[in-house]
Amino acid sequence: MILSPDLTGRIAADPDLMRDFEQLCAFGGRLAGTESERLAMDFVAERGAQASQVSCRSLPVSYGGWRALRAELRLGDGSSVACHPLVRSIATPPGGLTAEVVDIGRGTPEEFEAHRGEIAGRFVLVRHELMFAAGTIHRRRKYDMAREAGALGFLIAGPLPNSLVTGSSGREVGTPGIPAIGIAPETAARLARTARGFPRATLRLDTEEQQAETRTLLFDIPGREDEWVVLSAHVDGHDLSESAIDNASGVAAALAVVRALAAHVANWRRGLRLAFFSAEEWALTGSALYVAQLSEQERSRIALNVNLDSVAGGPRLAALTSGFAGVEPFLLSVADANGHDLRCVRPLMTNSDHANFALAGIPAFRMVAGYDDPAAPVRLVLTAADTRDKVPRAELSAAAQLAACLAAAACQADGQTADKWRAR
Ligand SMILES: [Zn+2]
Repeated sequence: MILSPDLTGRIAADPDLMRDFEQLCAFGGRLAGTESERLAMDFVAERGAQASQVSCRSLPVSYGGWRALRAELRLGDGSSVACHPLVRSIATPPGGLTAEVVDIGRGTPEEFEAHRGEIAGRFVLVRHELMFAAGTIHRRRKYDMAREAGALGFLIAGPLPNSLVTGSSGREVGTPGIPAIGIAPETAARLARTARGFPRATLRLDTEEQQAETRTLLFDIPGREDEWVVLSAHVDGHDLSESAIDNASGVAAALAVVRALAAHVANWRRGLRLAFFSAEEWALTGSALYVAQLSEQERSRIALNVNLDSVAGGPRLAALTSGFAGVEPFLLSVADANGHDLRCVRPLMTNSDHANFALAGIPAFRMVAGYDDPAAPVRLVLTAADTRDKVPRAELSAAAQLAACLAAAACQADGQTADKWRAR
C-alpha cells in the first residue's frame, strides 16, 4: 500500500512539526512530577485535540512520586564533584555515606562475577552504554547485580566528556535500594584503584517520596469497525537536558501523523487512537496502567501499537518488533513501497511503552532512530546533550512520514493480514 503523496507531502510541508518539537523542548526535560511535565502534558492535550479533531480522554495515572532535593559527591581528597541522582534513587543517611569505590568496568555479569569478593560494603562504579544496540546491558540490571552483591551505592559514568548521565535506578518508590548517581567520565577516572588501595568517596543524597498523579491522554478517531491502531509516544523525560530526541521527537511526529491522517480515518477499516503516556521513564508506568485497565475484548480490538520513541537522532530508522515476527513482512513492504529504509529488530526490548502492549499479546513495535549506530546522536539520550540541535528537520520529517505510512496501512489492512501480525 502506497500512501498518497498528498499525505506525506503534507507532513513534509507541515510547519507545526518543528514548532511542536521546539515547544516541547522549551518546556524543559519534562521529568514526571515537575512543572515542566505538567505544562507539556497540557500543551499535548490541546495539540492532540487540534490535530485529531476529537476531544481528549484523560485517564488518571497514580504512581510513586519522587524528587531529589540534594546530591553531593566528595572524593577522598576532599574535593566535590558534580553528580546527578538516578530517578527514584533511595536517599543516603542524612550525614551521607562514605565507602571505598570498586571500578568494575562496563558492568557485565562476567565483570560482576570476577569482582564478586570486592563489592560488599563498597560503592560500585560501572559505565553507561549505548542503549540501542544488540547486547546492551541495561543500567537496571547492573544496579540489581550491584545490590545483590552487597554494594552500598551505585555510580554510573556517562559516555560524554565533562558530562553527567541520568536514567532510572529501577527501584520502586517505597522499597529498599541503594543510592545511585550518574557521574562524568573524568570523575570515574579519578576513582581508579591505586597502589594505596581503593579510593574513598562520600555520597549524600536527600530525596522526597510521595504518591503523585499524572495522566494518559487519548484521542480516538473512529474507523468503520470497532478495531484500532494505537499510535503512541511518551511525553516525559529527564531533567539533565530538554529530552529532545527522547522523546520530544516522538511526540511531535505523532501529532504530525495525526494532522495528516485524521480526515481520512473514517473511510478506513480501523480507527486511529493517539495515546500520549507519561511516567514512561518511571518503569513504563503510564502505559502499564493503560494496558492493565483494558478488558480482554478491548485488547483484542487493538490490531497494532505503533510506538514512536526517539525517532530522530540518527539517519536510519528501526522497528523493534518485540518478538512479533508476523508483523515484520508487513512493515518492510509498506516502508519499501513508500521509499523508506527500515530495519526490523526482533527481540522484545522493554525499553519503551510498546513493551506493555507486547507483554499483553498485542502486536507492537517501537520505531527508533540510530539503532546499532555508535556514531548517531541518539547515543546522547539521558545526557545533558539531548538537545534540539541533535534533531534535524529532515530526520524528524522522514520519521513522521514513515510512521504515517505504517499507521495508515495498518488501519486499512484486511483481517487476514492483521491476523498474521500476532504470529511470533
Ligand atoms: Zn524514551
